Amino acid sequence: MEIYDDLRLGDIRVQTINDNYFDKLKLRVDVLRLDKIHPVVSGNKWFKLKYFLQQLHEEKSIAAATFGGAFSNHIIATAFVCNQLKIKCTGFVRGEEPKKYSPTLADAKALNMQLQFLSREQYRDKQSIIASNPSMFFIPEGGHGADGAKGAAEIVNLVPGFSAYKYIVGAVGTGTMMSGIANASYSNQKCIGISVMKNNYSLKDELLALVHETVKQRVTLIDGFHFGGYARYTESLIDFINMVWNKHQLPLDFVYTAKAMYALYQLAQKNYFEPYSNLLFIHSGGLQGNRSLKQKIHFDS
Ligand SMILES: *Cc1c(COP(=O)(O)O)cnc(C)c1O
Repeated sequence: MEIYDDLRLGDIRVQTINDNYFDKLKLRVDVLRLDKIHPVVSGNKWFKLKYFLQQLHEEKSIAAATFGGAFSNHIIATAFVCNQLKIKCTGFVRGEEPKKYSPTLADAKALNMQLQFLSREQYRDKQSIIASNPSMFFIPEGGHGADGAKGAAEIVNLVPGFSAYKYIVGAVGTGTMMSGIANASYSNQKCIGISVMKNNYSLKDELLALVHETVKQRVTLIDGFHFGGYARYTESLIDFINMVWNKHQLPLDFVYTAKAMYALYQLAQKNYFEPYSNLLFIHSGGLQGNRSLKQKIHFDS
């Protein structure tokens, strides 16, 4: 039984970016809009969860649990999917219980996720939390791991004419999504992950560990587009988000997709991509995370 069979996806589609900028460089840029799955549960977490929940179902576990921060896309996606499948779930959240919940935590709670708050020290020692909750089926933070990659590999099935893209570009947090996509890619394709982390020297190995041997030489991880680090941003990143929205009606999140798209623009300008090629950008979602921004972005008003 496929547990996801009954779940209906929203209006996922491929959007072409019509821009002189790319025309001059003889590039075609298409965006796979995974953000369209659902306004709050937007993006790759939906796919990464699938096989963990399948396993939970097969092991006849009755409750799911996972870890995440107060604005985590993974927490909200887990809450949503478990609620749909009527699976009990607990979210172990990093940090003391706040007086006022973030929109993400408020939504997760409304979706019947039990929230348990952990000090930063407790949060680091996840093994103890797992050991003291033997009745719970733990999904790794961020949906990281081989099961997550297996679910992410199915993303490419949503793309008409997938084999015609020479480059596939997307944001990398743990590398699970891009490794899954790379595993499902063709030998003529190159997969380019843009790291949203600063100084995470083990990330490349972690990503490659999830990639099939024959695919490894077609996968590249690019650093230097973190804008100060994970979930950090600058004024110019916000300007970029607004520019892309105004020009292309493409909403980006500041933690992942804006940094990856910014990198794509920059790399294109530096002739990183061969002229006359088709690029597929994976919009991995995460728009709900913009609710943590103090500053308004145009599509958010
Ligand atoms: C989690 C997330 C990513 C990163 O996915 P990984 O599989 O951890 O690399 C990228 N984009 C968005 C919007 C995410 O929520």
